[in-house]
Amino acid sequence: MARRGAAPPPRPPAVEALRVGGQLVKRGQRRRLELPVARLPTGTALSLPVTALRGRRPGPVVWMSGALHGDEVNGTEIIRRVVRELDPGTLGGAVIAVPIVNVYGFIERSRYLPDRRDLNRSFPGSPVGSLASRLAHLFLTEIVSLCSHGIDFHTGAQRRRNLSHVRADLGNPEALRLARAFGAPIIYDPGRIVGSLRAAAYRRKIPILVYEGGEPSRFADDVIETGVQGTLRVLAALGMWEGRELPPPQPCYEATVARWLRAGRSGILGLETALGDRVQKGQVLARIADPFSGRRRVVRAPFSGLVFSLTTNPLVYQGDAILRLVRLEKRPPRKKRAPPP
Ligand SMILES: [Zn+2]
Repeated sequence: MARRGAAPPPRPPAVEALRVGGQLVKRGQRRRLELPVARLPTGTALSLPVTALRGRRPGPVVWMSGALHGDEVNGTEIIRRVVRELDPGTLGGAVIAVPIVNVYGFIERSRYLPDRRDLNRSFPGSPVGSLASRLAHLFLTEIVSLCSHGIDFHTGAQRRRNLSHVRADLGNPEALRLARAFGAPIIYDPGRIVGSLRAAAYRRKIPILVYEGGEPSRFADDVIETGVQGTLRVLAALGMWEGRELPPPQPCYEATVARWLRAGRSGILGLETALGDRVQKGQVLARIADPFSGRRRVVRAPFSGLVFSLTTNPLVYQGDAILRLVRLEKRPPRKKRAPPP
């Protein structure tokens, strides 16, 4: 478990001159930019697509990043929809949108870089390192270094579906404030994962939220809409945006403990629970059947909690991760009762 961060020092709220990739973004301007990454073996130049919006009013500078894992496309769509709602004429501060960070993986529909490295385990990176390390370094130096806050979008990994949730450092007051404003049903603090963008941002004292939901290579409309509304609520909480009226954030649980339950035998999986279900200790969550004998092994909840991730594969090997349970630590505040008439 990584250490919890102290409150970050306040960042300069206004940018006098915003330059992204060396190109000036003027007040009230929306610019579409391409940051050179490398050349493909074909000789074709590969670049990082960026949309930068700079408001007329001073304020924070927020990056939004999607597809660090190239097959996690929900975030790309969330960013596209959020950017469509922003008007640099009324925006405060600036937004730097990078909907496809792992351009290689996005083209290949793969989580990884062509060398099978994981970009979100390659931060802070190096200008002379591996392909992933160079891309991580470019993103940190050209985008993150300009920003006061960040939001990074992910989904579950291959053959896994995640409940919509925000990952944030619960010990960082600014991150916690914004995570609550986001309004996903769970705020989960998994500690700092070595090599992740989140860990690299915290080292630079930049509060970052990671929004996770759904599965790779598929759009999930409910996950996308929660992500769009959550991001706009965060921009509103930062005083940057006041567009359309949004529904209030859902009351959310905070959690730091999650556990994968693994198959005790190989077989055919029958889940008896769904994503987002509250379950009690000892409850049967799944049965794994032998395809010939009809014998089945049950999987029970080791503690009371909430179903957080599920495999989407009905055939499991012994040891496969089936289901992830999160222990709920802090209940959401009760809704205020209406005063008596
Ligand atoms: Zn991811």
